[in-house]
Amino acid sequence: KAVVMSGIRSTGFLHLGNYFGAIRNYVRMQEEYECYFMVADLHTLTTHPDTKELKSNVHRVLAENIACGLDPEKVALYCQSHVYETAELYLILNMLAYKGELEKTTTFKDKARLHPDNINAGLLTYPVLMAADILLHRASLVPVGKDQEQHLEMTRNFGNRFNHRYGEVFPEAFAFNFGEELVKVPSLDGAGKMSKSENQYATLYLSDEDDLIRKKVMKAKTDAGPTEPNTPMPDYIENIFLLMKLVSAPDVVEKFTSDYNNAAIRYGDMKKQLAEDMVNFIRPIREKTESIRNDEQYLRRIMEMGAEKARKSAAATMEKVREAIGLKYY
Ligand code: ATP
Repeated sequence: KAVVMSGIRSTGFLHLGNYFGAIRNYVRMQEEYECYFMVADLHTLTTHPDTKELKSNVHRVLAENIACGLDPEKVALYCQSHVYETAELYLILNMLAYKGELEKTTTFKDKARLHPDNINAGLLTYPVLMAADILLHRASLVPVGKDQEQHLEMTRNFGNRFNHRYGEVFPEAFAFNFGEELVKVPSLDGAGKMSKSENQYATLYLSDEDDLIRKKVMKAKTDAGPTEPNTPMPDYIENIFLLMKLVSAPDVVEKFTSDYNNAAIRYGDMKKQLAEDMVNFIRPIREKTESIRNDEQYLRRIMEMGAEKARKSAAATMEKVREAIGLKYY
């Protein structure tokens, strides 16, 4: 069985991008593969050092994953900080990661620009910790959104460097979306991607109430519409079509596409339709999340069960790693 690994930071409420970029595939993969899915609570500290909300955020991410259809009996659903071997592998991989390549990472440059007062070494070595999470289970498939593509390439580089220097331990890990292009769910203001911790008014959260969803969708950027048939689509209109393709029925998408091509589209109608389809998509996830996110006992049991499975796999890998490096000399 191929091994699958992926994670989500506990930086806030999950959104449509997390669902279509990551969780949807977790659910699709859980029957067939050996799966490890974690809440990346240590990664969270790179940008969110204040831990007042940490526990409730971790609970929320767990509950939202389960509400989306993830079955904690079938996969290992755990917290990153509960698997101590992660820190050991991270330390070792740091010796195989070069300062220059870390500084060139797009996410590092973006986060450094957004948080100029806290450009810490953890932020710089974020891709190394991520590589440790993946390599710890010797995973080869990593369901993630498009924003993670570069990190996966770095994971392969670190793993390959290890294999060259110390002997073959790690398989190559690839970003996975069932052979399709990786997903990027755009934010509603047309600038960048939906995100947990940035751009909150342009992001649709899986916890948003019906009316808030409607309000956000109706505010999405549009214009007066095309005046001639078959006009090329501006980015922000393309984004609305992209969102519609995710949640609306194919014939609805087709109707608005042909309206656009005939220069007869009414964006108000299109957004109203999108808003209703979005409400219907998000509501059951929100309601299910609400029913479990405060059940501490249940969530604790899930975390313990997940950590146990993850530690077993991590311990086996670390034995191989120590052996290969020559750390078992004593
Ligand atoms: P933050 O804003 O705190 O960085 P985030 O919303 O970018 O959070 P992550 O925890 O970094 O979320 O990522 C979790 C998973 O969700 C990753 O697989 C990532 O690729 C995916 N993801 C996040 N945003 C999007 C998006 N807009 N479209 C597609 N996938 C996304």
